[in-house]
Amino acid sequence: MRFVTVRSAAGPRPGVYIDDRIFLLDQYTSLQDVVDAGPAAWSAISAALADLETRPGMPFQLDQLLAPLPRPRKNVFCVGMNYAEHARESLIAKGLEPNLPEHPVFFTKPPTAVNAPTGAIVIDPAVSTKIDWEAELGVVIGRSGVNISRADAMDHVWGYTVINDISARDLQKRHGQFFKGKSLDGSCPIGPWIVTADEVPDPHNLTVRLRVNGVLKQESSTSDLIFDIPTLIAVLSQGMTLEPGDIIATGTPAGVGFARTPPEYLKPGDLVETEIVGIGVLRNPIVAK
Ligand code: MG
Repeated sequence: MRFVTVRSAAGPRPGVYIDDRIFLLDQYTSLQDVVDAGPAAWSAISAALADLETRPGMPFQLDQLLAPLPRPRKNVFCVGMNYAEHARESLIAKGLEPNLPEHPVFFTKPPTAVNAPTGAIVIDPAVSTKIDWEAELGVVIGRSGVNISRADAMDHVWGYTVINDISARDLQKRHGQFFKGKSLDGSCPIGPWIVTADEVPDPHNLTVRLRVNGVLKQESSTSDLIFDIPTLIAVLSQGMTLEPGDIIATGTPAGVGFARTPPEYLKPGDLVETEIVGIGVLRNPIVAK
């Protein structure tokens, strides 16, 4: 299933995307409610789809959609330097030794950073002039757990989504930690939907791409993750409970703007497209404040 959150006059509404149509899940108030409802409820929704498919549904347009979880209950968990080539390009660009991390590097983005699949990314030059892109596979937790083993980790995954971890490189550098530079409003486009795990046979064999104005900037595969999804869940959940609706951005491959020669940053008028083949595409315009 592909779970969506749709804009409506009455506010955000949860639904399912099928064949260019959207079917609202009227019995739920949000996609957070759907994920909280658990496996029996997801099975019931799945069983009801056969009936739904005979109905006309709403014609689908990408710009109807909000992020699947438009206001997550927690910060989005993120992983830094989780592709070898990207770790090297980042460390070299910072004048550091290109040694790969021995343990996952975690940071977060606040719920206010979450943006829609076609939402504008607003650049305020008074805040940052070095806005960069990072295409990433997002993992959404469906089952609560703490101290989750690698062997059990995939049973805790509800589904997958696409994330652009938009980064203000000047702020990232200035403030020592990643947090401030990763947290600007609208700097976390997510979507267009959450594809449930049963429809993604191998999340470690997905092509990750990013284009700016149609020009390919990043292209890699999740097969190149340094720390795979079970490892990320196992390490992150050590002594820290993961809950339904928690989102993990698994890191970005090589090809980000700041590590290019010369460095490249997003500017008003640009269109950034973030794609995970088989999951979906985000199309975010860059606009001036
Ligand atoms: Mg990132």
